[in-house]
Amino acid sequence: MRGAYGGPRVLLRRLREVMADPVTAQERLDRIVVLIAANMVAEVCSVYVLRVDGDLELYATEGLNREAVHRTTMHKGEGLVGLVADEAEPVNLSDAQAHPAFSYKPETGEEIFHSFLGVPILRAGNTLGVLVVQNKSHRTYSDEEIEALQTTAMVIAEMVASGELGSPETGLEPVGRRPAHATGAALSEGIGLGHVVLHEPRVVVKTFIAENTEAELKRLDAALANLRASIDVLLDDGEVARAGEHRDVLEAFRMFANDRGWGRRLHEAVQTGITAEAAVERVQSDTRARMQRQTDPYLRERLHDLDDLANRLLRELTSPGKGMAPVAAELPENAIVVARSMGPAALLDYDRTKLRGLVLEEGSASSHVAIVARALNIAAVGQIENATGLVEPGDALIVDGVSGEIHVRPTGDVERAYVDKVRFRARKQEQYRALRNAPSATRDGAQVKLLLNAGLLVDLPHIKETGAAGIGLFRTELQFMVASSMPKTAAQQALYRAVLDAADEKPVTFRTLDVGGDKILPYMQAEPEENPALGWRAIRLGLDRPALMRTQLRALLNAGGGRDLRVMFPMVACVSEFEAASDIVQREIARLIKHDHPQPSSIALGAMVEVPSLLFQLDELLKRADFISVGSNDLMQFLFASDRGNARVSGRFDPMSPAFLRVLSHIADRAKAAGKPVTLCGEIGARPLEAMALIGVGYRSLSMSPASIGPVKAALVEADAAELEAFVKPLVANADGAASLRGAIEEFAVKRGLQVAP
Ligand code: PEP
Ligand code: MG
Repeated sequence: MRGAYGGPRVLLRRLREVMADPVTAQERLDRIVVLIAANMVAEVCSVYVLRVDGDLELYATEGLNREAVHRTTMHKGEGLVGLVADEAEPVNLSDAQAHPAFSYKPETGEEIFHSFLGVPILRAGNTLGVLVVQNKSHRTYSDEEIEALQTTAMVIAEMVASGELGSPETGLEPVGRRPAHATGAALSEGIGLGHVVLHEPRVVVKTFIAENTEAELKRLDAALANLRASIDVLLDDGEVARAGEHRDVLEAFRMFANDRGWGRRLHEAVQTGITAEAAVERVQSDTRARMQRQTDPYLRERLHDLDDLANRLLRELTSPGKGMAPVAAELPENAIVVARSMGPAALLDYDRTKLRGLVLEEGSASSHVAIVARALNIAAVGQIENATGLVEPGDALIVDGVSGEIHVRPTGDVERAYVDKVRFRARKQEQYRALRNAPSATRDGAQVKLLLNAGLLVDLPHIKETGAAGIGLFRTELQFMVASSMPKTAAQQALYRAVLDAADEKPVTFRTLDVGGDKILPYMQAEPEENPALGWRAIRLGLDRPALMRTQLRALLNAGGGRDLRVMFPMVACVSEFEAASDIVQREIARLIKHDHPQPSSIALGAMVEVPSLLFQLDELLKRADFISVGSNDLMQFLFASDRGNARVSGRFDPMSPAFLRVLSHIADRAKAAGKPVTLCGEIGARPLEAMALIGVGYRSLSMSPASIGPVKAALVEADAAELEAFVKPLVANADGAASLRGAIEEFAVKRGLQVAP
């Protein structure tokens, strides 16, 4: 018996020969089980594949009844095989029947076997099946044998994932190819149908078994050295913003790359006879499997970092020194980009005309990449757990940026339903386009100005496309957030000039830099703050660092030479701040005059009303400001003490509550009394029902994202402003303790046939 035992190295060599034979996948699998059984002197070797219905199906066996192939199944979690699948870890037992999980399958004749070794068939951390050997005698399998079986399982995983294997008996596909559905957070409205492009492409390992272990160890060491050096370069350069990698992530990379345990595990894996790439994939797959079971968010994050690092190492091994593959440059049609996380600049590198959607494992609605996705008008969904592990490049994928869902490898039914949805949305868009040049007025003739929120060059075509009355909020910080270093005055000026050109005489309101809080400039070192939302941000930073503010104002004044210029300041908390900022503007104007530079033909200065303290200084403010603009996103967060970026609380209070509507009503009243224009530029103005309520409390100017102009206009042209005011104002004034007036206002709007559904 012992003579037939070739040892794990011989097994791997033979396996390489089997893989090279031009036979069908099923025949290859049949040969693999025979080979393993012979090599390990095992009476049984079987492969179970996890099916779409969650059961494990016997796909090949040596030693069990062959009639059972494609007939015997067990539930995931049933028996020892199920245990291996569930735990995603090897199970090695010399007395299998004594184990509580043991289950008896009469059709296989399994009861006479005592020893059991099962390893999971893993790919990208997902269990695709189980590979098992069994012996009649009581024996314990060696670590070397477990390693060899795990390597074989990697090879089988590739066969399963490639879709070559199927079950002629049941027609049920292996789980690796099954349709999958996941729900995360909607980041950018729209529906995208297309095919997966991994932002960081996985390196497909083709050669698993090494010809020369010494040479593989050398390759591994060289790649590790290059990897460490490249991380040091990134950290030293400070050029960390482009790929969305912040310094702390790179620091974690550096720590792991120099971690002895990680290096040792990689070396040990190579020493079992596999290639350096296969070793990285093996260790990475274990990491991913651990990651999926880890519930502690900090540890999960670190495992994620380790996973990213393994990807980088794989790239070092396959294309040394090249770094990341330029996927953005060679994008297929109808691409849906899937990434763990992404910086806003990286998204802008993709060809917009081919991009249909974005799926992220991270990302919140207020993240910078989400803002860019909205500006590009592509569907985006974030917080999809293990998104990069759920998909294979080229897989069909649907992104529903309305509900926050994704459908991977969708069934025909789901796909048809979405094609219908897309058609329906297209019809709506058609309706909105038809309204583009219609007057933006209610039936009773109240003019309601609809303006755009913008911040990037890609936003500019939207002015014409939507028929907006101008730009009500130009978020100048976006240019700073997508850049890898502080934009120079000339670059700022060029952008502002391009914006004014595109607006073509329509008004543009530039907001000075609103950074700090959640809007972080990666190249600007800032002191860590306990409560950044309440910290050193926006106008506070601008007044403390007047050079920064002056540079920007200079760029704005130069760009606005000979035209009307509108500038407003964010996060003003008291009148004196507005005065101080206005003084800086006046000094810059004096400088223009002194140097004989062209001046803007008019300058209007305004303040954002988004800090509640300003509610009690409105009359004083309105005496000094030319206009005001309500930032309802921040006003809501500060008024209700409810973090807009924290999903647990951000939806807890309704902007359609009497408290908030009273505040908004008060602001509109004071502005009217002072004869100064007021606009509302927060997210609530972008929703048709809320927009109707705003008209009802006196607003006649709303600024919103481009995709919202159509829906809001469609509702308002059917509305009667006087009727809305007559209904909403008393409702708000007399609401006796109601948490929200949404239901009442919605009922009113629906009765009047207004299109207020989101
Ligand atoms: C707001 O706070 O409502 C606003 C428009 O500004 P931002 O969302 O950029 O903070
Ligand atoms: Mg704000």
